[in-house]
Amino acid sequence: MSVLRWDIVTIGNISRNRFWGESDERGVRSALCTCTLVTLVDGTRVLVDPSLQDETAMRTELGRRTGRTLENVNAVFLTHEHGDHHFGLRHFPNARWFAAPPVAEALNRSGGYEKKVEAIADSLLLGCLELLHTPGHTLTHHSLRFDCDGLSVVIAADAAMTRDFWQARKGYFNSVDHDLAAQTIEHLATLADIVVPGHDNYFLNNRASMGSVVR
Ligand SMILES: [Zn+2]
Repeated sequence: MSVLRWDIVTIGNISRNRFWGESDERGVRSALCTCTLVTLVDGTRVLVDPSLQDETAMRTELGRRTGRTLENVNAVFLTHEHGDHHFGLRHFPNARWFAAPPVAEALNRSGGYEKKVEAIADSLLLGCLELLHTPGHTLTHHSLRFDCDGLSVVIAADAAMTRDFWQARKGYFNSVDHDLAAQTIEHLATLADIVVPGHDNYFLNNRASMGSVVR
């Protein structure tokens, strides 16, 4: 199995951005996570981190960005248990819901959903999406990596909040371990050609600008 294409459904933003001169102390806008639809060659569609709480808005954005409906999504992958990364999960009742084992356990334990999130048993989701343990933001955070069009794509999610956080090798204000967050970005930088962050548009992993924040 391999990946046919991938499309950003919602481009996320964070509630406070220190690289824009905003204080970490309080949010100045609602957060929205970046949501991505990955289409496999067999037609299976995997939505990563369904972002929108409002069903009509989720349907509209999916249609506007990919031409697909909520019913066309076969699987959902959740990178971590923070609410903003599964606000839209309920809109996909007929899809299979997947997460890394500790994330699935946390979500199922929270009792928020009638349906179970399935723990991914091995290191590949659906035979081609490589599960990467990317701790720092949370200790159980997982990202996905796959090859598409000859490039290595990493859906980092909150392992890299935005491009600025990636380039500065910084965790977010709510990261549980900032040293681990920096190490995780360093590790992902060895794997990725393209990075899909948790709350920003996708960007190239520009090795020439490593360590310097580019605005
Ligand atoms: Zn998060």
